[in-house]
Amino acid sequence: MNIYYHRILIGTSISALGILSLVLLPQYAYGNVANCPIPALARVQRHQVVNGETLETIAQQYNLVPETIINFNPSVRNGVVSAGTQLEIPPYNGIVVEVPKNQTWRQIATKYKVRQDTVFEINGCQKNPKFVFLPIVSGDVVQRLAVNSYNSTPLSANVTTITGYPLQNEINIGLGYGWQIDNKTKDVFFHSGIDLLAPVASPVQAIAPGIVVFAKEQGSYGKLVIINHANGLQSRYAQLDSIKVQLGQRINKSDIIGTVGTTGKPTSSEPHLHFEIRLSSGLGWEAKDPKNYLTGLTKKNTGKN
Ligand SMILES: [Zn+2]
Repeated sequence: MNIYYHRILIGTSISALGILSLVLLPQYAYGNVANCPIPALARVQRHQVVNGETLETIAQQYNLVPETIINFNPSVRNGVVSAGTQLEIPPYNGIVVEVPKNQTWRQIATKYKVRQDTVFEINGCQKNPKFVFLPIVSGDVVQRLAVNSYNSTPLSANVTTITGYPLQNEINIGLGYGWQIDNKTKDVFFHSGIDLLAPVASPVQAIAPGIVVFAKEQGSYGKLVIINHANGLQSRYAQLDSIKVQLGQRINKSDIIGTVGTTGKPTSSEPHLHFEIRLSSGLGWEAKDPKNYLTGLTKKNTGKN
């Protein structure tokens, strides 16, 4: 699973609002600025509401407050979502503001009391964006700066980390984490996880104890299991063929949670597990480099360390 800019452009063209397709066009042009994070507005995901979900549970799933989702989806401003509705989900809490013709993004930043360097970074270092993402909620400035959150520094020094391996045998990496170039199209995209090559139906295991917070189909992730661990860490297992756990289930390290598959939109045709590690922060669930959490990549995995 990855985020191609052109896919996002196509994907958001049927947005309830239509605003994001406008938003993303200028982002596309400037999306590939060296040493700059991907613009927040280019990382907007889509979520299809299913039966039983509420604005609160959806917000929780993405580590956002409901106000953020309402801001991006005015059709749900009454707080009610219905099954089948497509929602635009930004990567962080915040709002999107159109820059008026006679103003600059710097003036917008000042008006909303957000530091200019924060606005510049979080919008991908664009010179003249038409729309800017501002990391604020209900007028309160979210002080965690994008600049800091993109570094791999843990939020607090004493975070206990997790290590493990999501497959039973050490295998090869198909595609690593981070910025990648598509060999065919030459598109630059950000790969939010790591692809571990394995045959279809290989058992997939939890890398650490935790609680299943998501276990169903989700867009380009295909069949997806998300497990929340201690200390604000989360692991995601995507492109699965089958899911063996249920929402809310408590699991131990190495419990089988599903099998390798090719559901969703896998990056390559070779079957693999798309594996992600995310860390909760004021700006949402940030994708971390899974390598730092995988034991199998540095030594033979015993399955029990
Ligand atoms: Zn992947």
